[in-house]
Amino acid sequence: MDVTDQERHDTRLDRFVDSYAERTNGMRVSAVRALFAVANRPEIVSLAGGMPNIKDLPLDSIAASMAEMVATNGTQVMQYGSGQGELPIREQIVEVMSLEGITAHPDDIVITAGSQQGLDLVTRIFCDPGDVVLAESPSYVGALGTFLSYQTEVVHIASDADGIDPAALRETAARLRAEGKRIKFLYTIPNYNNPSGVTQPLERRREVLQVCESEGILVVEDNPYGLLSLDADPIPAMRSFDDNVIYLGSFSKTFAPGFRVGWVLAPHAVREKLVLAQESATLCPPVFSQFAISNYLSTQDWKGQIRVFKDMYRERRDTMLAALEEYMPEGSTWTHPAGGFFVWVTLPEGVDSQAMLPRGVDARVAFVPGPAFYADGGGARNVRLSYCFPTSDRIQLGVQRFAGVIRNELEV
Ligand code: PMP
Repeated sequence: MDVTDQERHDTRLDRFVDSYAERTNGMRVSAVRALFAVANRPEIVSLAGGMPNIKDLPLDSIAASMAEMVATNGTQVMQYGSGQGELPIREQIVEVMSLEGITAHPDDIVITAGSQQGLDLVTRIFCDPGDVVLAESPSYVGALGTFLSYQTEVVHIASDADGIDPAALRETAARLRAEGKRIKFLYTIPNYNNPSGVTQPLERRREVLQVCESEGILVVEDNPYGLLSLDADPIPAMRSFDDNVIYLGSFSKTFAPGFRVGWVLAPHAVREKLVLAQESATLCPPVFSQFAISNYLSTQDWKGQIRVFKDMYRERRDTMLAALEEYMPEGSTWTHPAGGFFVWVTLPEGVDSQAMLPRGVDARVAFVPGPAFYADGGGARNVRLSYCFPTSDRIQLGVQRFAGVIRNELEV
């Protein structure tokens, strides 16, 4: 049977519509992915995506040492491996985490296909439909997608310029309990939050941990940007104060995302459940990628490379902040990230970020409207801008266009 492109894409013709599991109703298109095709058009300046800029990696040197790895150890690196992940990389990850004050044992680390799979496995082992996951306001779109795909209820906790408000956390937890709800964990990104760029100071981390301890709430700390501090040394991770914190790490931003290697550091019992979940999902995380990263860490100057990345991101962040200062209309505010990839803009009263997006694309600038980062419809007056991928010239131009679009909205 010949099918037209239109018919192939027409979901009304989906003959499996009555067969899908309930949980697929919770799955939603990521706003960032939906924007991808538009944002990639060359005439558009994209301040939307969160892709790390890996053009400065020493590709020739990496290629040579990986070729040698295959030549000398090919039958191991291309074979099935451990469900928990390979020991050499778990030992190296202990060293990576020590840079953020974490003391850990390789036995308590499970390798995942990016920290995104870590989020999936953690949700899978803890959450039944209807369980509550607490999250910052705003929170990472990919995590919200995972939590919703397991039919959890995501409840956002009021957050300020220092991250989660501990008093709001306590009150919300008490209210939810009084309503008979089961809170499974607090999901938090204490360093350079995606999307807000906010960092929780040390004292705030302790306060949030204290509330969680007294309320019996498990903490899941997601930290892919931690080593990309642009101003001062990294603040110790929450996991460094409390061994019960489940910690998610990743090589996507400090090396390269295409290998899809991240990890979960978890208390021993949880770690065992995670390995079972990992085995049922993938048998074992990608062995070749793990050895490739191990090889990178042992043959290349990876700490020096992180400094190179930081210099580049710092310049771009500074360009974006200066351009916002120069072009944005009265009534707008934005965060000043001390690391990571993102600035979170609050638009003037009466301007709706989602409604404004098509006008932005017409003006050849792409951004992510705030509601993507809320499970409850919040964020109407917010926008996430990223400075990680475009060059400084393009950032300058993109912010100028973006500000122009807001001015037009105000005149309508
Ligand atoms: N957590 C956060 C906060 C992120 O920003 C990202 C990537 N955008 C991830 C997790 C997932 O990263 P990866 O799977 O590449 O490790």
